[in-house]
Amino acid sequence: MNPNLQTRLAVLRTLPSLPAAALRVIDLAGNPEADMTATAAAVGTDPALAAKILRIANSAMYGKTRKTDNLRQALTLLGLNATLTLALGFSLSHVLRSSLGHGIDRERIWRRSVLAAGACRTIATRLNIAKSEELLLCGLLQDIGMLAFADVAAAQYAPILAGAARHADLARAERAAFGCDHAQAGAWMAGAWGLPEYLEQAIFESDSASPTSRFNAVVALSGIVADIWLGPDPKAARAAAMTAASRLLGLEHDAFTEILVGVAEAIPEVSALFDIRLVDAEHAASILDHARELLVVRNLRQLDEAMRRREEADHLRDRARSLEERARRDALTGAYNRAHLDEVLHSEYAQAVQHGWPLSIAFFDLDDFKNINDRYGHLVGDEVLRQFAQLLMRGLRSRDIVARYGGEEFLVVMPGLHHVDANEVLQRLVAQVSGTPLAEADGDAIRVTVSAGLAATDEGAPATSVEALLREADRGLYAAKRSGRNRLVTAPPQESPAG
Ligand code: GH3
Ligand code: MG
Ligand code: MG
Repeated sequence: MNPNLQTRLAVLRTLPSLPAAALRVIDLAGNPEADMTATAAAVGTDPALAAKILRIANSAMYGKTRKTDNLRQALTLLGLNATLTLALGFSLSHVLRSSLGHGIDRERIWRRSVLAAGACRTIATRLNIAKSEELLLCGLLQDIGMLAFADVAAAQYAPILAGAARHADLARAERAAFGCDHAQAGAWMAGAWGLPEYLEQAIFESDSASPTSRFNAVVALSGIVADIWLGPDPKAARAAAMTAASRLLGLEHDAFTEILVGVAEAIPEVSALFDIRLVDAEHAASILDHARELLVVRNLRQLDEAMRRREEADHLRDRARSLEERARRDALTGAYNRAHLDEVLHSEYAQAVQHGWPLSIAFFDLDDFKNINDRYGHLVGDEVLRQFAQLLMRGLRSRDIVARYGGEEFLVVMPGLHHVDANEVLQRLVAQVSGTPLAEADGDAIRVTVSAGLAATDEGAPATSVEALLREADRGLYAAKRSGRNRLVTAPPQESPAG
């Protein structure tokens, strides 16, 4: 530090004139033997200080439900350490506010300190840091170096203060002018006043980008938080504070926004304690509203995000299902393909055998289909195949399976259907095919007929395997072809394996 400055700081007008109560409190704070009686006596000698201690003991900030107008009770409620710490803050605040500094907005410096003190307490509470009074005191005193500069070098300091747009810019200008910044000067003063060591350390690191402890990091963050209420651009200041919160304490967006709401809500209380109008009510309310809004918006955004993720999952599942379904289908006709048929046929057969349920299957083969291709071309043939498959699928129950077996051959699987009922349904379909034009070409309505062979497990001699059942249906189909086409033949009973 500039030795000249050090001399000037040493004779700082406020130094010898610390109030008697403050001196006694400092003394007690450094004395491990200090007890309640001594503390009550020290605080009691200063009526203004005693009133403050009573007030804080009764404040919502300390969440005490029991009200008291008795100083000793207040000390018991707060605890010795908290009382001493707070008493120190109050007695020093009195000194610091009455310091000089022409042309310097000392009130603003003090407002920042009080806001930071409130922020420290809120952060400590939210982060479960036990030393909330000590933190409050550090928050309060972190900028005493600025008040000291204002006192000893007002003329030189005023333009430096006015020229620094942000608190962060200040230190460099101070070092250039005084050979030390206000954090260093403040720490030195704290030492010279005999204030507790932790205070000196926290003040020293109050503008540090990398404080050496979590405690000091809270103090460093508190000033940056206070600036949200003091600067012309709260939005930018909040963004800067958010970044600092993450860097200094690893706080995420939501945790930090909740802290901001807490700081904002505590402002009236802190204002009253330190007898200072911190921010005008409207400005404070708008910042609080905005912070709350951020939380709401954030929650909505999370809801949105969750909904979007669910929709995406649904979409992916649907897509997977439709791809699976497509993989089972024949591309031309939309009927199931051979691979899926084999799977379904075996499982249906196994179930039918296991439960004794009937199972009917039928081969369908278009009659003289080669002629359609030859006369109208393969594209028309394709259309006929498509329409035929659709007709089958429409005419059957949803649990029946229509599969393209190959070429113009289809297999229909009808689980649970007795051959008598299957026969009735399929006869109707065969008739329907012959009566329905399936395509149009050269002005001709194209009609086809179909032959079919039905086999069922409930027949007199039930099939002994899927293959046997298929063979039976195939025999029925050929019987239908041989006997003139455009008909359904139920396969004659299979010869028993024994015969
Ligand atoms: P039948 O009454 O004895 O069954 O006579 P058919 O002409 O229907 O029988 P055949 O087996 O001789 O001919 C089947 C024809 O089906 C031959 C083949 O070109 C045609 N075909 C097979 N698959 C397709 C296809 O995907 N599209 C088209 N357009 N034709 C096909
Ligand atoms: Mg054919
Ligand atoms: Mg054929």
